[in-house]
Amino acid sequence: MKCPRTRTPLKKVSVGKVPVYISEACGGVLFENQTLKSFECPNDKRGKALATHLSQFHSELADLKERVSCPLCIDTVMLRRFYSPLHAVEIDECPGCGAIWLDTGELEKLQSLMLSEKDRAILRHELMKEHEPIEIKGAPHKHDNWNRRSDKIDALFDIASYITRGW
Ligand SMILES: [Zn+2]
Repeated sequence: MKCPRTRTPLKKVSVGKVPVYISEACGGVLFENQTLKSFECPNDKRGKALATHLSQFHSELADLKERVSCPLCIDTVMLRRFYSPLHAVEIDECPGCGAIWLDTGELEKLQSLMLSEKDRAILRHELMKEHEPIEIKGAPHKHDNWNRRSDKIDALFDIASYITRGW
């Protein structure tokens, strides 16, 4: 299998049992269908290990705009599309097999946009505090508002994580 940028052989390595294909010539990496998910979180050991490993092969490429062909499929040009909903990182994806090619530095870029579990917990907590209902003292509670409030917080939280992911 060849690197779609440099035409040098891709090296298969296994990161925490998940196989990926690395170009030691440019620092690009190929993920087979669905395996990118295992690496997108920056606080995950696997993601960190792979990003660090790739950074040693980093090299500036002349033309990243040029379309690449899927290293796994013959004669299939990969599609360039945005990975995050707010269009921050572009990736190359094979319409045939679903493989994803990331050019050098793109994994780190993608990881930097992902909120860690801890960040999400802090953000959620802050939103909960901000939207604390105002209690009316002296009036008896007619019904429990908890469920509806929780729905509202979830909606706000979705928006917040969407925004913080966004650039
Ligand atoms: Zn393919």
